[in-house]
Amino acid sequence: MQINNSKIKQALLSGNEAVVRGALEAGVNFATTYPGTPASEIGDIFAKISKESNFYFEYSTNEKIALEAASGAAFSGLKSIVSMKHYGLNVALDSLLPLIYLECPLVVVISDDPGSWSSIQSEQDSRWFSRLGHLPTLEPADSQEALDMTKFAFEFTQKYKIPILIRLTTRVCHSRSLVKCNSISIENKIGKYIKKEFSVGTAVTLERHKNLFLKTRKLQDDFNKNNQFNFIKNGHDRKLGIVTSGVSYCYVREILENLNLDLPILKIGFSYPIFKNKYKEFFGQVNEILIVEELNPVLEREARRLLQEFGLTKKVYGKDLLPGVGELKPEYVLQAISNILKLPLPQDLLNQQKEFAELSIAPRPPILCAGCPHRSTFWMIKKAVGDQAVFGGDIGCYLIGALPPFKLADYIVSMGAGMGISHGVAKATGQKPVIFIGDSTFFHAGIPSLINMVYNQSDVLVVILDNRITAMTGHQPNPGVGLTGQGESTKALKIEEIVKACEVDNLEIINTFNIKESLEKIKKAYAAKGVSVVIAKGECRLLTVRRLTQKNINVPKFDITGDSDFSEFNNFKCPAIRRNEGGKYYIDQNTCWGCAVCGQIYPGKIHPTTKSKNLKIYF
Ligand code: SF4
Ligand code: SF4
Repeated sequence: MQINNSKIKQALLSGNEAVVRGALEAGVNFATTYPGTPASEIGDIFAKISKESNFYFEYSTNEKIALEAASGAAFSGLKSIVSMKHYGLNVALDSLLPLIYLECPLVVVISDDPGSWSSIQSEQDSRWFSRLGHLPTLEPADSQEALDMTKFAFEFTQKYKIPILIRLTTRVCHSRSLVKCNSISIENKIGKYIKKEFSVGTAVTLERHKNLFLKTRKLQDDFNKNNQFNFIKNGHDRKLGIVTSGVSYCYVREILENLNLDLPILKIGFSYPIFKNKYKEFFGQVNEILIVEELNPVLEREARRLLQEFGLTKKVYGKDLLPGVGELKPEYVLQAISNILKLPLPQDLLNQQKEFAELSIAPRPPILCAGCPHRSTFWMIKKAVGDQAVFGGDIGCYLIGALPPFKLADYIVSMGAGMGISHGVAKATGQKPVIFIGDSTFFHAGIPSLINMVYNQSDVLVVILDNRITAMTGHQPNPGVGLTGQGESTKALKIEEIVKACEVDNLEIINTFNIKESLEKIKKAYAAKGVSVVIAKGECRLLTVRRLTQKNINVPKFDITGDSDFSEFNNFKCPAIRRNEGGKYYIDQNTCWGCAVCGQIYPGKIHPTTKSKNLKIYF
């Protein structure tokens, strides 16, 4: 299936794909993103199809810039969309809140990650931002709604001249369902910035704030009566009514069907502003109310307030019966409904719960790929610095360095924060922290921190892990790679030139696969006073192997010669190095990706089993 095929009538799409299809059907002209799971695929699909579908796409250096670029295009008359993960909205918020005042016709797509499946920093509920910024918000429950709401969002934002938020969650992003499609018509349009004052300033800001309240009221008037995304699904049994939104609606439908219950549901798809009429109609019909929503009690608080405003007294259930942490599951909804209606829990569920509780699943911690350039860097840092230094971590594949055997991250907070926090530690204690930051993260949020360290005379070692790609989110290019999101050649920014321009005190550039030479340089950089930077260059091994395989070139393989004490491998943990039942070390030939670093740890004890002329071996 080609997502940009105008002729298809229906397709099996994930929520992320459906957002793209909705944007295409709405005639998108300009799309931007900074990659972040669970929303990464939206940008990745835009990247693949933008050229042939005649619209502009870019991976921006961070989410704030992605939002600003899309706003510039929107101010210039282009239909614009920006997508990002939930934390991305935190980065972009500084510009988004004023843009709401400035009548910017922009579609903003974000994805929350209940359960923190791919987001380790926090489990935020971004619906609060809608309330904070008076930002109209749509919450699709499935792929069809993701498509329909995206299309609607483009029409809405053009008509009302206000940004609109589409808030997805992980399940909606990644679940597939059958979607009805319509035709695509994209005009290859060049925008024109018609001069108009879009800026802010004390007097105008207050005026614009007032206007925003008036606009919110107008939206409430316009959509109170006629709102396709907020509807009541009638049920004959009025003793309990359920208010729900997003993917929770699907769970409620599934459970009611399983229990053979015919309870009324108020489905909230257009969740901000609050459209009171449907609530009033619904609350008048039911005796008691259950609010089913993931994460925070946002709808629950609003429902309680509205009941008071309507002068109604009804029992409301919500977070007293359902978890406010982690992903909601259909079985939790089942338990809540059974609890309220005093129904016995179905025997098969009880059996399932028992089986699940008894299940013993082997732990499978995340691990760096065989031959990963970060592994050798971590190993060398430990050799050069020991374990007692303070280590600042950051966001990327290299956060796995926080786990054994390396344990090289005392704190991982947010993009770029490892540098900022470490500077504070250095100033406060006189200790010399070692900070790891990836190439994409350095461009995203590291540069201002580096400038701050130099300006304020820090004493730190910054290790920039330049693996030539944004690896963790799916191998998107970044400003150091020399390729745009549309696959065109562009300038490849040299990190060393940026670092030099920041006037750091010491700079060393290492090849992460050349241990002997690199180890000396790391020791030198750590011993030096001031802001020292080591740029650890080593391509993501997955990219190397993929490139060689596509060209039918062998990846070199290695094995162990004879018996020896190979216990240092326990501190290195390459997944290709294994032990047989007798405790003897060997290298799994299918897993080895030929970085040759093990051969430098044990010179003379490792031999190549296959060679490649294309990769240099440093032993
Ligand atoms: S994807 Fe690349 S950078 Fe990430 S762990 Fe694997 S080899 Fe390392
Ligand atoms: S060469 Fe050694 S360290 Fe590199 S991937 Fe193979 S086994 Fe692992």
